[in-house]
Amino acid sequence: MLFKIKSEGMKKESARRVVTHCQWLSRKAPGNIYPQDKVEYNLNSNFLFAVKGRYKIYLFSVLIFILSMMDNAQGQSDKVFRAGASTSNITPMLGEPIVGNFNEPLAENIHDDLHARALVLDDGDTRIAIVLVDNVGVDQAVLDEAKKLIFAQTGLPKDRVLIASVHDHSATSAGGKGLKRRGWLFGKPLDEYQTFLIRRIADGVQVAVKRLEPARIGWGVGKVPQHLFNRRYFMKEPVRNPFGGWDKVQMNPGIGNPKVVRPAGGTDPEVSFISVQSVLGRPIALLANYSLHYVGGVPANDISGDYFAVFANKIQKLLKAEDQDPPFVGIMSNGTSGDINNIDVLGKPTKKYKPYEKMQVVAEDVANEVFRVYQNIKHQNWVKIQAIQSELLLNVRRATPEMYEHITRILARPDTAKPLYHPLEKIYAQRILQMELEWPNQMYAPLQAFRIGDLGIAAIPFEVFTKTGLDIKAKSPFKPTFTIEIANGYYGYLPTPDQHEWGGYETWLSTNRVEPQASEKIVAELMNLFSKLK
Ligand SMILES: [Zn+2]
Repeated sequence: MLFKIKSEGMKKESARRVVTHCQWLSRKAPGNIYPQDKVEYNLNSNFLFAVKGRYKIYLFSVLIFILSMMDNAQGQSDKVFRAGASTSNITPMLGEPIVGNFNEPLAENIHDDLHARALVLDDGDTRIAIVLVDNVGVDQAVLDEAKKLIFAQTGLPKDRVLIASVHDHSATSAGGKGLKRRGWLFGKPLDEYQTFLIRRIADGVQVAVKRLEPARIGWGVGKVPQHLFNRRYFMKEPVRNPFGGWDKVQMNPGIGNPKVVRPAGGTDPEVSFISVQSVLGRPIALLANYSLHYVGGVPANDISGDYFAVFANKIQKLLKAEDQDPPFVGIMSNGTSGDINNIDVLGKPTKKYKPYEKMQVVAEDVANEVFRVYQNIKHQNWVKIQAIQSELLLNVRRATPEMYEHITRILARPDTAKPLYHPLEKIYAQRILQMELEWPNQMYAPLQAFRIGDLGIAAIPFEVFTKTGLDIKAKSPFKPTFTIEIANGYYGYLPTPDQHEWGGYETWLSTNRVEPQASEKIVAELMNLFSKLK
């Protein structure tokens, strides 16, 4: 059944490709002559006849070669690189549940508005859109609808559109309340906020397309290691999990916990960024990528764009891009931060930050580093853009007979009963039961790869561990490469196979939903996609 749906989708997709190709052809139709097309080659034809024998053939071949090279150069130079960007307000209504933690407090205050920030790039042949949404994770069922609307409004097919969530833990749900958000949402009716979000994302792309103008593009990579900590730690003694078993690794064991041995992984200190500016040097947009879960320090009932939004404001200030027309768009995307946070467990207890204070500190350091590197990068007049997407079939993790027995036992206990093993055991029993009832045995994970000149972008619909992100950076044929996580869907955490062995929150069934080898299969498929863009 699932396969049938997908194959119909693929047919529609190839039809879309034909449409966009035709649109491109019509732009290059006779009559639409670029100034460079009028260049003529004044060759002295008598010169060739004066040369005799095989030298004539040799010289002729050389001339043909030079002519073809000139033609190639001309082919590239008549293409204009263009960029456009927009900011779309997606602030929800008050009274909706704020999600990202185990409780779901209702929104009572808006500290700062939420946005979908779009960047559209066009090399004259290929157009792509990258949209970052201030949400904890928007389901693929919702993003697919947004992509349909984007196609209807702009002709951009879905493999050219990357829509990712920044992983904002101070935004309301884009998937309903309580357990509903964790269900299989394909085919279910859209709620009010989902409908609004879809419309605002598509409108944002449409506005960015409208703002396309001749542009230059550059990129760079800086380092901001001081705010990154691997949040998973090996413990001196095994730790109980909600299933009655024991884990070697614990997430967030607490600052100064004497049972901590060492972190169970590293961090990726890099902040990568792409900058686009007008041909006269006016900043159009800057898209950054940093592998930090979020910062937080937000009162429970507040809506806020977290440090992602603060970065956007700070980089705008540093680039002196305030009060511009059209407005500058700063964007922070989430790298591979499934196991990375902002808490120094091994350090001494630090000062207590006021609400919203810590995110200012982090965003300031990240923006300053981007700005430092920015001043030495070269903006190019034209680079090639390519996009490719595939859908990787993955096995969904299923409850074993023992797990079934466990969740049945836990669910039969009264709500007032003291937990047997773990405070979250009932929540996990409910989530696992829901997964067993609603989720199929296999799923297609949308994977996407963009090439922008020598730069690569990978997109993965999971909360990806930093080790996987570093692996992608090392193996990618494009330098630099970065990964945008929670892109084109949201399917939970993606621990590496060894992290699955060690256990801990991110590996628990229903926090993680796919086979333990999934991260390696995803990296292999992304390298396959990158190899097709060479
Ligand atoms: Zn998370």
